[in-house]
Amino acid sequence: KEKLLEIKDLKKHFKLDRKNILKAVDGVSFDIYKGETFGLVGESGCGKSTAGRTIMRLYEATEGEVDFYGENVHGKKRKKELKKFNQDMQMIFQDPYASLNPRMTVKDIIAEGLDIHKLAHSRKERMDKVNELLETVGLNSEHGNRYPHEFSGGQRQRIGIARALAVDPKFIVADEPISALDVSIQAQVVNLLKRLQKEHGLTYLFIAHDLSMVKHISDRVGVMYLGKMAEIAPSDDLYAEPLHPYTQALLSAIPISNPEVERSRERIIVEGDVPSPVSPPSGCRFRTRCPFAMESCAKVEPEWQEHTEGHWVACHLYNDKYNQEYKQKQAN
Ligand code: SF4
Ligand code: MG
Repeated sequence: KEKLLEIKDLKKHFKLDRKNILKAVDGVSFDIYKGETFGLVGESGCGKSTAGRTIMRLYEATEGEVDFYGENVHGKKRKKELKKFNQDMQMIFQDPYASLNPRMTVKDIIAEGLDIHKLAHSRKERMDKVNELLETVGLNSEHGNRYPHEFSGGQRQRIGIARALAVDPKFIVADEPISALDVSIQAQVVNLLKRLQKEHGLTYLFIAHDLSMVKHISDRVGVMYLGKMAEIAPSDDLYAEPLHPYTQALLSAIPISNPEVERSRERIIVEGDVPSPVSPPSGCRFRTRCPFAMESCAKVEPEWQEHTEGHWVACHLYNDKYNQEYKQKQAN
């Protein structure tokens, strides 16, 4: 598998005031392979959107690297090179309405990227391209003359997708693209994204707040908690055998249609709110909500380790050294 992106120990901290730093993304490393969909999941405030935006270079990284085709996008400085990255990496937003200029017609919104990157050489070519894009996403040329408010949520997301697609990108960060849509519309948008991925050879980073939303689109899934990665696995592995207690908790919140699975899976309910990323708990950040927490969890940060091939987890339960402690705790 060819790596399109390599995210290396990426950090994005925001200085709130003289004393407090919000560590929204606090050292995450993962790869995204060419042509895959990488689902990034976590509760609100876990840093997933910030991670997406920092990867896109909408935010400057505090530390770390994002290599795109082997080049660190945060190290780039020359304008021309930046422009190429801006074209190759596009974003689809959660609220397409907020991200579409209400005073622009749909065709001008879609053509904006074409204009910026000078991808249409005549007015006719510009118009043809816009009409083709409208059709690709399931709209028609007549829709191009209207304004965003005249469309439903699902249609507006289609417009947002057409706009992203206009510049022929390689990589798209979709930040909760279906969260705001009716359930009946969600599948349509997911299917559209899947079709476009095949037709255009796209790679996606698909951000969502729950695991059920990324299930049908992701090849691999990463679960984030308080600015760190808790677990990464191929989708099938993650849903069949979640390792991290946080992933298990997120999964037990999904209604399960298969009663066999329902019975065999211990339901883990996580209580309380996510602690503040300004002062995360010592050791394992999940320990304040983890039903398996032991003494070491407060003292030692769990290592990021490959449990089985391609299945990574950061939890002491999968480390022999601390696993003994857990067994002892169970015995007492
Ligand atoms: Fe729970 Fe400890 Fe594992 Fe953290 S390291 S998830 S607190 S068992
Ligand atoms: Mg978000």
